[in-house]
Amino acid sequence: MATLELNGLTKIYDDAQGRETAVEELDLAAEDGEFVVFVGPSGCGKSTTLRMIAGLETVTSGTIEIGDREVQELAPSERSLAMVFQSYALYTKMTARENIEYGLKHSTDLDERAREEKVEDVAALLDITELLDDIPDEMSGGQKQRVALGRAIVRDPDVFLLDEPLSNLDAKLRSRMRTELQDIQDDLGVTTVYVTHDQTEAMTMADRIAIMDDGELQQVAPPETAYDHPVNEFVATFLGSPSMNTFDARVDASGDEVTLRREGVAFATLPADSVPCDDGAEVRAGLRPEDLRVDEAAESASFEASVTVAEYQGNDNFLHLSTADQNLTARVPPDVYPNPGETVGVSVDPADVYLFDPESERALKTRGTAAQSRENQPLTQSE
Ligand code: ADP
Ligand code: MG
Repeated sequence: MATLELNGLTKIYDDAQGRETAVEELDLAAEDGEFVVFVGPSGCGKSTTLRMIAGLETVTSGTIEIGDREVQELAPSERSLAMVFQSYALYTKMTARENIEYGLKHSTDLDERAREEKVEDVAALLDITELLDDIPDEMSGGQKQRVALGRAIVRDPDVFLLDEPLSNLDAKLRSRMRTELQDIQDDLGVTTVYVTHDQTEAMTMADRIAIMDDGELQQVAPPETAYDHPVNEFVATFLGSPSMNTFDARVDASGDEVTLRREGVAFATLPADSVPCDDGAEVRAGLRPEDLRVDEAAESASFEASVTVAEYQGNDNFLHLSTADQNLTARVPPDVYPNPGETVGVSVDPADVYLFDPESERALKTRGTAAQSRENQPLTQSE
């Protein structure tokens, strides 16, 4: 077990296709035993980051420290880490037992007896004892994934690296493996870096999520902090499903209150001291679907909207609304189920209004606060 520190980690690919900055000046410090999840859209640099940590990709600049060792110049086998890939990368001609044992043969000087014992222990932990003599072709996707995990766990690495390990599994198994992986990581207490494009995976598994966009780390924070206090509009809209409604609005100050308006519609009225903007300022407003309260009797609502589509979800309904030339999605309880074409009233608690600077896209107001707290500042962000 060990801490993991990335300092100014940068990867520039420079080949026949041209020059591409895949990862730029990335700083991150994971605590001993921490579960950090890198999340972001496809192509944002997650795998490149992981592959640099693993030693499968050279570093253009920056350092990687595991414990108190700088490892970026070391061979993968000297870094004391284990990686699990989306593709499993099992040896097809070997049994599960041989696959799991393989790394031990090459990375330790344990004798055959000791190796066998370790393999049995890990198989018991992962509940694959009865598969040990099967070859990968005889296994389901979930079983192969467990063997791949076993091969990583058996080596007692200081750091565990996983790149989209659940992407090839069906939805039900994915959600079960999510819980199991978390339990295993908890038991082993190994510092873990996990990469996914799936925000649900990120939100449910991580101690802290590291949100990336276009090669740059945007924010590193516990899931609930990133959700309630995103540093910018990208993070705000990336996390959450359906995603946050964002739109241009004007700040209309009057006395100690501020109203957010668009096309004559007043979306919300907030205490003036919670909005760090001048009268008449243009802002980006953000409203999460679950924060829109929809009432079929419109009288006491903040504003009116017409229903374009009502999606029945069973536990929740998603309502697609239209007002002030703007589409909004609301996530409402199952008993709120208006017909398309109906006019409904919508209310928003002022504390739940998010505001972003239209130029820099940085958060001006997040949930419940006048301004984002300083400790939530992104680790890297160009001004
Ligand atoms: P992610 O895992 O987040 O989907 P990657 O780390 O795989 O993203 O890729 C980040 C960027 O680097 C992408 O624009 C990708 O096209 C580019 N890239 C990845 N690998 C290479 C490579 N071997 N050569 C050139 N460009 C690459
Ligand atoms: Mg990837």
